[in-house]
Amino acid sequence: MKHLQDCTTLNNGVKMPWLGLGVYQVNDGEEVISSVKAALETGYRHVDTAALYANEEGVGQAIRESGIAREEIFVTSKVWNSEQGYDSTLRAFEASQKRLGLEVLDLYLIHWPVKGKYLDTWKALVKLYKEGHIRAIGVSNFQIHHLQDVMDASDIVPAVNQVECHPLLTQKPLLQFCRDNRIQLEAWSPLMQGNLDVPLLEELAGKYGKSKAQIIIRWDLQNEIVTIPKSVKAHRIAENAQVFDFELSDEDMKRIDALHTNKRYGADPDNFNF
Ligand code: NAD
Repeated sequence: MKHLQDCTTLNNGVKMPWLGLGVYQVNDGEEVISSVKAALETGYRHVDTAALYANEEGVGQAIRESGIAREEIFVTSKVWNSEQGYDSTLRAFEASQKRLGLEVLDLYLIHWPVKGKYLDTWKALVKLYKEGHIRAIGVSNFQIHHLQDVMDASDIVPAVNQVECHPLLTQKPLLQFCRDNRIQLEAWSPLMQGNLDVPLLEELAGKYGKSKAQIIIRWDLQNEIVTIPKSVKAHRIAENAQVFDFELSDEDMKRIDALHTNKRYGADPDNFNF
């Protein structure tokens, strides 16, 4: 990957840019519109939203006003937990489609593996996919056993698994499982929600003449993990994309891997109550 618009090819042939903009906790209206526009102007072609984030309308508006052809932008949304189940997922998808103002979504994910529901939710995603409303379908916050469960029940293998992943939670066994099964791993909270105070990252930032955020984003890319850092600041949105002009050595990749402590900033997918 040499360029901000370079893509991974998903298991159904759809191309997904390696780097995108996350918009969790970004206000609908002016804030999300200006963030998405700043990203698109910088050259990003990938935006990650969700029904939960309550900013799909602004995301859609920014895309329309950007003047960039719709097909050039990869848009992800997700079905929230309270909407899971077969019929309610179909309705939730339609509502997201309307709020975004988009006929077809590039990627639609099950946001969390809600026990007793996610297999029915998956069936609804498969129907929407087979009818052409979504170019690729996937999951989020799925552990290996959740993925196995879906793969045992369905003829469609999730194209993507979006999980918390960063230097303190490297997700190596899950990454290997996903590679073996042609599921693209995608990192949420790649920047540890801004908790970047890690001496090794500081050292590597100095060594490569890059910021700590850029070191992590580059580490994601070299691990072949799609990454969606969030910022609402145009200068940081630009900074987070300037990661295609340097390469971390194998040794430094391994040193970052060794930071793993199994630290989660978000919930544990095997033990959440929302
Ligand atoms: P993140 O790890 O991307 O951190 C974002 C924060 O890092 C910013 O608010 C800012 O404080 C800081 N930051 C950003 N750029 C910086 C820079 N260049 N230098 C210094 N600090 C910088 O956190 P996130 O928003 O939780 O995760 C990214 C995206 O992942 C979300 O916006 C959302 O799209 C997605 N997400 C998905 C799930 C899920 O359950 N599927 C959960 C959380 C987030």
